[in-house]
Amino acid sequence: MSRFDLLRRRMVEEQLVSRGIKDMRVLSAMKKIPRHLFVEEALQDQAYRDHALPIGARQTISQPFMVAFMTEALALSGKEKVLEIGMGSGYQTAILAELAAEVISIERLPVLIEKARAILDQFHYENVRLQLADGSIGWEKESSFDAILVAAGAPEIPQALVDQLDIGGRLVIPVGGRSSQVLKKIVKEKYGTTETALTHCAFVPLIGASGWQSAKSETDASNHLH
Ligand code: SAH
Repeated sequence: MSRFDLLRRRMVEEQLVSRGIKDMRVLSAMKKIPRHLFVEEALQDQAYRDHALPIGARQTISQPFMVAFMTEALALSGKEKVLEIGMGSGYQTAILAELAAEVISIERLPVLIEKARAILDQFHYENVRLQLADGSIGWEKESSFDAILVAAGAPEIPQALVDQLDIGGRLVIPVGGRSSQVLKKIVKEKYGTTETALTHCAFVPLIGASGWQSAKSETDASNHLH
């Protein structure tokens, strides 16, 4: 067993199982996917630690626990068509590809989608498609979806995403301010939706028509006032 395999097993036990992640399919996908391949070489030793890491373009690969927690919240059985918004490194995309029938993943930054594509190509998934687009309005032409996972923080729940869910479909999305949010789960019912607040979280902002209007951070904006 390689050093990385060992670190990954420990990550699953110490960060996921011990904090209550129970879905065996999620745990085995996270035991399988080599997370270190999704970060640059200089950061590979940190890839199994309990935090997010930079991936370039001021974006981050999410904390392993958050990836597991969001994925578990989608309650995937293997038959689902899933939309992922905010591909970033592509790590979460690989986890979803292991657990669902079909994954469409959207990213707005070309530099990240190209990096993610190069890594994901090595896995030869036949059920994954990557799209360069503004995912804040979803991906209407291939809706509806059984599950939608948003890995960037939105100011409010984009109605388009709710519209693109199938009946019984689940949406997991961080909602709140630019630097901290509440992770919400929305389930579409025949008449209306149910909404649950799952936990506090801190994602990079969702930038787009139904997200934040610009990539300028709050710090930039407040510096401007001085
Ligand atoms: N799950 C990813 C998280 C990446 S960070 C990972 O673990 O690697 C969130 C990503 O969302 C960033 O890459 C950012 O560029 C992207 N993003 C932000 N707004 C977006 C939008 N409107 N559409 C698609 N991607 C978006």
